Amino acid sequence: TSFGFKEVREEEKSQMVGKVFSNVASNYDLMNDFMSGGLHRLWKDRLDFVCIFVLIISLLSSCCFLYFTSSAQFIRLVSKLSPFPGMKHLDVAGGTGDVAFRILESVNSIKRRALQDPLNDDLQEETRIYVCDINPNMLDVGKNRALEKGLGEDKSLVWVQGDAEALSFEDNSMDGYTIAFGIRNVTHIEKVLSEAYRVLKRGGRFLCLELSHVDIPVFKELYDFYSFSVIPRLGEIVAGDRESYQYLVESIRRFPPQEKFASMIADAGFQKVEYENLVGGVVAIHSGLKI
Ligand code: SAM
Repeated sequence: TSFGFKEVREEEKSQMVGKVFSNVASNYDLMNDFMSGGLHRLWKDRLDFVCIFVLIISLLSSCCFLYFTSSAQFIRLVSKLSPFPGMKHLDVAGGTGDVAFRILESVNSIKRRALQDPLNDDLQEETRIYVCDINPNMLDVGKNRALEKGLGEDKSLVWVQGDAEALSFEDNSMDGYTIAFGIRNVTHIEKVLSEAYRVLKRGGRFLCLELSHVDIPVFKELYDFYSFSVIPRLGEIVAGDRESYQYLVESIRRFPPQEKFASMIADAGFQKVEYENLVGGVVAIHSGLKI
């Protein structure tokens, strides 16, 4: 490619993605801390000239990226979902648990409010939030976070190893489906969309949060520079793994633009398909309804 990273053939992609996320899993929190402003960790360990240069550039760019690595877009995603107590939800590629924890928080706060209403007998059904990820190392990241949050024994959270392209869940079994920063890593996007459609009940909502395409001049150039020059370098310095992080940024470039992806969602059978750009398209939330 123009950025010097080798093309990955389709059949090699899932192996490549498996390797990338196994490598990334142990450093996932660290890299996210860093890109979202946790610069102090690097200052302590590696204070050389290259590092200082990268830090200055990343300080400038991280103002933009603060938003995209922060929790704001997850909150936006969950607000579009309108979670409710008793819901059956599937979060695919959800290894870190970030989306699932927020959905559970939202359900629990609705529950707390509803419990104050003596006429409300709507809370009998058990909420189930299935976190499905192909990579056991990433699921471990999420399970450990659940333990830290005191949710280790929470029966509402169910951790399942599985492939987004061939889900083990029954037809028409889910009220909601989310996939955050996951779909660009799969081999066949169409299969993922058709599986999402299959497992959702009628009235169920599909939501996808994904790094997307920026087309605001100057910001686009800054974004490309940050993505293709800074992030792989950070991956090398922080995680000792340039290739995995280079792959991650290349996968953003290859992902279909917003309009094209919206039409793929509609082709899978979803209706009322729409999308919202966040931070000028760095991130987009696509949604669709199974009617
Ligand atoms: N959703 C989480 C978040 O937003 O923090 C994790 C995102 S992480 C960038 C991408 C995840 O997609 C990884 O955990 C990876 O293992 C998972 N993944 C990649 N291909 C997958 C597939 N075919 N089926 C399920 N999960 C997959």
